Amino acid sequence: MLVLDIGGTKVAAARWTDGALHGRRQWPMPATLQGWRETLAAMAGAYPEPDRVAAAVTGVTDGQVLSAVNRQLISFWDGYALADALAQAWHCPAVLLNDAQAAAWGEYHAGGRRAGNLLFLTLSTGVGGGLVLDGRLRTGPRGLAGHIGHVSATCAPPDDTHLCGCGRPDCLETLASGTALARQASQLSGRPLDAPAVFAGWQAGDPVCVRLVTAAAQAVAQELANAHALLDLDEVRLGGSVGLADGMLAAVTLAQSALPALFRVPVAAARLGADAGLIGVGHWASDRLAAG
Ligand SMILES: [Zn+2]
Repeated sequence: MLVLDIGGTKVAAARWTDGALHGRRQWPMPATLQGWRETLAAMAGAYPEPDRVAAAVTGVTDGQVLSAVNRQLISFWDGYALADALAQAWHCPAVLLNDAQAAAWGEYHAGGRRAGNLLFLTLSTGVGGGLVLDGRLRTGPRGLAGHIGHVSATCAPPDDTHLCGCGRPDCLETLASGTALARQASQLSGRPLDAPAVFAGWQAGDPVCVRLVTAAAQAVAQELANAHALLDLDEVRLGGSVGLADGMLAAVTLAQSALPALFRVPVAAARLGADAGLIGVGHWASDRLAAG
């Protein structure tokens, strides 16, 4: 099987054999449909004749077609029949799974399939999530399940930018994504700052950066408490470049300490790092084949 992880900035590919990745390569994600078709042709040349293709993708998917949640991310993604395009490129069956849902399934496998109810939360360019409930990955009929980045946060972003790329106001993504941290810090400090600079400023005690990271961590802790109240989670795995930034997990745990004990769900760093989507979609597609 060939596994792909198609994100906003890169496409990763690998062969999936015996529960592991082999021959991993990656390409930059093109901004246009024409560029994407050329990348697809290059990948088809690099990985000839797989028996099937399973792709973890950014966006909401029902397994065949994509709907963009954040329309600013990839312009041609909304309504694109990606599974058909993959099937045509490789002349074999192709399935899609949202990348955060794939990572949730990968984390569930990496933990020895012990946590019955697991939420994977990624704080990265955007904010994504995937849910495993009673040992099953829940995607939902439309693929929307687990999209915790587009649940309203309990506080507004400190720079008063309310509208999220999805069309809803005050989503967690407007506060706690890398894009949001960079936007807020640049606006409040009056100079361009990216997310790593915000974390560096936070470690150095810069008041604007401290305020923003603290607000992001508090919003994450509140969303996790909301999810825990709804679903009774066994554990949360935190991933993404912001989620895994030095000190972020500790900031979220500190924010959780202000909550009543009943609503504090254990949060730990994701185990699989940058390959979580590839590994997760590999397990998911293999498990579906094994289940018939
Ligand atoms: Zn949103």
